[in-house]
Amino acid sequence: MSGVTETERCDLCGSSGLAMAYDVPGTARGLKAYVCDDCGLVQSLPRIDHVARRSAFPDSGAGFGNIRYGKGFRTQFALDTIAKYRPLERFKYCMDVGANRGSFILALQKQAPDIKIDAVEPDERVLAEYQGRENIAVINKRIEAVALPKAKYDLVYHCHTLEHEAHPLSSLRAVCEAMTPDGILFLEVPNIAFLAGTDLVEEWFIDKHLYHYSAPTLCATLEAAGFKILQAPNPDDVTNLTVIATPGQVKQAGAIAGETVEKKALLAAYAKNLQENQQKLKAGAQNLMTFAGHRRVVIWGAGRIFTSLVDIGGFDARRLAGVVDKNIHKYVSEMFGVAIKAPEAITEMKPDVVLVASRLYLDEIKVELDALMPGTDVLTLDDVLKGRVGEDHEK
Ligand SMILES: [Zn+2]
Repeated sequence: MSGVTETERCDLCGSSGLAMAYDVPGTARGLKAYVCDDCGLVQSLPRIDHVARRSAFPDSGAGFGNIRYGKGFRTQFALDTIAKYRPLERFKYCMDVGANRGSFILALQKQAPDIKIDAVEPDERVLAEYQGRENIAVINKRIEAVALPKAKYDLVYHCHTLEHEAHPLSSLRAVCEAMTPDGILFLEVPNIAFLAGTDLVEEWFIDKHLYHYSAPTLCATLEAAGFKILQAPNPDDVTNLTVIATPGQVKQAGAIAGETVEKKALLAAYAKNLQENQQKLKAGAQNLMTFAGHRRVVIWGAGRIFTSLVDIGGFDARRLAGVVDKNIHKYVSEMFGVAIKAPEAITEMKPDVVLVASRLYLDEIKVELDALMPGTDVLTLDDVLKGRVGEDHEK
């Protein structure tokens, strides 16, 4: 039982055998990550599904997630994926579970103006873009608090919301029943396979996430909720698990071969790796500070790598010639005493070197930087961790 109470059973298979596998540092909720001894689903306890919101700031630790800008990156990919199954204009009734700032529904409406949309979004601060628009009804609640209709929606968009819910399986069952028999579900959550990355410096087990799925545990959850999977997660995408599903038969969850052992090993390796990298980050941040004393250093990317560099590494951001970010500048004007600007502003910053503080968009940013300032010297997180800041770039 490992100190787990009777009510805290595995959300997927119902087992009481939850083994504590990772004690999350810096959590405001007192969260610990457990691995189910039967099915291998990784889940955090206690299951508090709501805490007071902290400031809108991209924290490097367990408090991350308050700025709420990330989902917009997935909109075009989602529309393209859905359109492979049915032309968008043929859908009649869509539900967006966790509509956030409305990036998906606004883009969907552009392509399919007649579609009626129910936007489920509990955060009243982000509704302004779509509240009161024609064909959009806002339901200002958490999905788990909504009494869903039966067989209404032929499209459900469920993107980066499931991992926040207290009881995803029962919630997904209600979503499945709310769909028409030929309905299409687009569902996406973070992929726990990300933890195998060797350059992580920021805490992955953030306070807002209670469930941490792998491809097998996510597919088992969908099947246990009554879905038939039409498109399984792409094994090459270690950042997100994306699934297309349609209502089918309920398939009771059971043991998943190898999953428990694999996930326990993954969490143990992650804890060790994170600790080592955070030490390397401290040394790297000091090198970067010295370097920034006599060279103009700009950081491109104001997300969690940047905040880790300051929060964990002890880097003084005021030493920078500037910080740019394609999205965060729209929501936050200043962080750690330095202004956050749009990428175009980089030319005025006259950098000698640009630290690209992003993993996922590293190549994309390099291309954009080269278009704005051809031939600019580039540093990566890997250079910082491996102590290559002063050497290669001080010419
Ligand atoms: Zn289980």
